[in-house]
Amino acid sequence: MPEADLPESAAAAGKSTSPAFLPYGRQSVTDEDIAAVTAVLRGDWLTTGPAVTQFEADLAEHTGGVPAVAVTSGTAALHVAYAAAGIKPGDEVVTSPMTFVATAATAALHGAKVVFADVEPDTGNLSVDAAAAAVTERTKVVAAVDYAGHPAELDALAKLAHDAGALLLEDAAHSVGGSWQGRAVGSIADLTTFSFFPTKNLTTAEGGAVVTADADLLRRAKGFRNHGLVRDKAVQRHPDEGGWHQEVHEFGLNYRLPDVLCALGSSQLKRLAKFKKRRTEIHARYNTALADVEGVLTPPARDGADPAWHLYPLRVLENRRRALFDHLRGLGIGVQVNYIPVYWHPVFEDLGYRRGLCPNAEAYYEQELSLPLFPSLTDADVDRVVDGVRSFFHA
Ligand SMILES: *Cc1c(COP(=O)(O)O)cnc(C)c1O
Repeated sequence: MPEADLPESAAAAGKSTSPAFLPYGRQSVTDEDIAAVTAVLRGDWLTTGPAVTQFEADLAEHTGGVPAVAVTSGTAALHVAYAAAGIKPGDEVVTSPMTFVATAATAALHGAKVVFADVEPDTGNLSVDAAAAAVTERTKVVAAVDYAGHPAELDALAKLAHDAGALLLEDAAHSVGGSWQGRAVGSIADLTTFSFFPTKNLTTAEGGAVVTADADLLRRAKGFRNHGLVRDKAVQRHPDEGGWHQEVHEFGLNYRLPDVLCALGSSQLKRLAKFKKRRTEIHARYNTALADVEGVLTPPARDGADPAWHLYPLRVLENRRRALFDHLRGLGIGVQVNYIPVYWHPVFEDLGYRRGLCPNAEAYYEQELSLPLFPSLTDADVDRVVDGVRSFFHA
């Protein structure tokens, strides 16, 4: 049933009369979405048909008209974007540690050396000064993250990347539908990536996209999505092989998002503005209700940012984050922590990265607690979360 309580709700399972478990994020799927998917299932194409082209065109309407390449996940989008940027062993990618591991892992999988630069203490976004200090002549990409849905300092980061002969990649897994200084997310960086995982701002179950205004980057992204197969006779090395012939010039993978899921994406995009509006309302309701609670900081927004809030990152002071996490989980409130600094993962520890590298990111992590935020959260749900926080602080 669409928009119903999660099955793990204790009340739904008949185990107790306590209120339903509130997850920190949750998809909104309507009967209209389901009809769009079943229509494709009954048609001739299940994958790589007209629904892909349609979804890419629909997405472009939300990214300032910049063309899109639909792929199978936000992780695939990053892997494709770094491939399009031509990342090779020995290249350096400067990025934020305040992100999901995929932002860095996909660069490392291309053989890049990942250089973590610290974040701004207030937004948790990549610091312009730290990124500038981290750039070298080997830097090929500066990868910013729109943490929680708040756009990074995209103009300053683009300038410092371009001055160094590098590209700006924006991991906009959190921020589809947002804008910065009046320009849509997707129309600013050289390459922008999205995720359509169910907790994100719109969903295709699993899915993602790369958007870029650069024709060459777009062509390379499309190539990597589909094994690097070249079908255009004009650029084939062996065009006379026969009508069946297609050939590979550079390795790629199969990251094609199927028609079935693209149909869901197109249907979801019709409600993206509505989702964003409701997320903004909930964000504001938390801000107002928690403003006077001593012991927490509510998330700021910078001038010129029109965030598409994916997370509500509360900051819990005086080392009380873990206790508040346990308190709220005990009340059936599915808070989350986003994110452990990426270089704390053992895979980076084993490569020699050490704690202490990015003090702002580490301080942010130690305070961060994501409160539930998704469009079908009611005002009463929000008030329940607020009461949970206030009861912890006896506020
Ligand atoms: C979710 C997310 C990803 C990965 O997206 P998937 O669709 O889950 O593969 C990458 N970066 C950030 C910042 C994310 O939040």
